[in-house]
Amino acid sequence: MTYDRLVCANCAAPVSEGRCPVCRANRERLQQENPFAGLNPMTLIALLAILIAAVALLAHQTA
Ligand SMILES: [Zn+2]
Repeated sequence: MTYDRLVCANCAAPVSEGRCPVCRANRERLQQENPFAGLNPMTLIALLAILIAAVALLAHQTA
C-alpha cells in the first residue's frame, strides 16, 4: 500500500511531504504498518530459504 496520494486532514498537503506534525505522525504510522518495509531483499530470501527447508524436512519425515 502506498500513502503517496494520502492528503492530510490538518494541512491539506500530501502526507508524504510531512509538512506538519500530523503528516509526520501519519507517515510514521503507515510505514510501521508494513513489517517488511525495513527488511532488505537478502533477509527475505534467507527467510524464504529457511521456510522451504523446513517444509521439505517435514514432508520428508511424514512421507
Ligand atoms: Zn499535515
